[in-house]
Amino acid sequence: MTVRLLKKARCIDLVDALSDDYEIVAPVRKKDDTLFEPLSGGAEMDLDYLNSPVAPREFLLPQDETVFEYSDPENGTTLQPKIKDRCRIILGIRSCDLNGILLLDSVFSKDIPDLYYLNRREKTVFIAMACNQPGNSCFCSSLKTGPSASEGYDLLLTDLGDEYLVEVGSSRGEEIVKIGRGLFGEAGEPEIKRKADLLAIALESFVLRVDFQRVTELMKGLFADGMWEDIAERCLRCGGCSFVCPTCHCFNLFDRQLSETSGKRTRGWDSCLFSGFTRMAGGINPRGSKVERIRQRFFCKLVYYVEKYGAYGCVGCGRCTDTCPGYIDIAQVVTSVSLRSKGYEVDVGAKPER
Ligand code: SF4
Ligand code: SF4
Repeated sequence: MTVRLLKKARCIDLVDALSDDYEIVAPVRKKDDTLFEPLSGGAEMDLDYLNSPVAPREFLLPQDETVFEYSDPENGTTLQPKIKDRCRIILGIRSCDLNGILLLDSVFSKDIPDLYYLNRREKTVFIAMACNQPGNSCFCSSLKTGPSASEGYDLLLTDLGDEYLVEVGSSRGEEIVKIGRGLFGEAGEPEIKRKADLLAIALESFVLRVDFQRVTELMKGLFADGMWEDIAERCLRCGGCSFVCPTCHCFNLFDRQLSETSGKRTRGWDSCLFSGFTRMAGGINPRGSKVERIRQRFFCKLVYYVEKYGAYGCVGCGRCTDTCPGYIDIAQVVTSVSLRSKGYEVDVGAKPER
């Protein structure tokens, strides 16, 4: 493994050096929140952020995008796929979100490859950031998706105080170091040891630890359990949990007419919590009730993802808990599954104490 040091004060010089070849997306402070956005117009990075309220997956799967435009149907319809994106660096992405993207890679490359996602993925470089201090809703350590990334990054930064330890994870990472030559210093065993110590402290400081052992198997035995009705009572069907999640990926397609002879097909994020999500022509809806939809969300994350892709569809970022107006908490659900399967009564309607 190649390691380097980068002074925090030189980060902006690295961004400048890379800006000719890449669009740089980074966390930027916006009033009370930090959001990922392209660095332009003097926007300042906030690499000390705890967690962004929305995962940066939108840079690989935009909330709304044109899939193709069509025109001239009388003379033979022409379809123009809209696949064009410039090379992009996502700087400061946390380990949980990077693991979310590794899951999306499976979703969008297996069965039917999604050229739009895969094209963006190919052009995206990840400069990830290890967490020295987890948030109150974070439970990535329970899923081994954090607090430091072990795969998927091109460069991985760890905050050592005035400087970052930089671990190079790929040939593209080597290329970045080459472009920024002169900005990086040498690192060795003392800095690697310092990172290991910080990581140990971070692992100790998680307030939320969730036991996922056997949850997939236990969930299957609780498909008809009354706990889903209790949870559903709190769901307002806002879709917020899906939209902030780094692993949710469902979308809907829309055809829009632009003129008498032209139009475009777009796609936009959808949520399995919306009542129309599975509604079909003729009004048939296989998941017509709120209970069926909320159960689907948790079965998707904890059962179906595992069966199809070999990993939970949750990376422990805690965003769905933070955003849910009904205080529905995936960590509480996992714990309740374990207790219910042992026959205990559980109060899944209680607001989590954090
Ligand atoms: S955020 Fe909460 S209330 Fe909104 S759809 Fe998700 S579970 Fe339901
Ligand atoms: S299900 Fe919730 S905690 Fe898990 S990855 Fe999605 S938003 Fe994060």
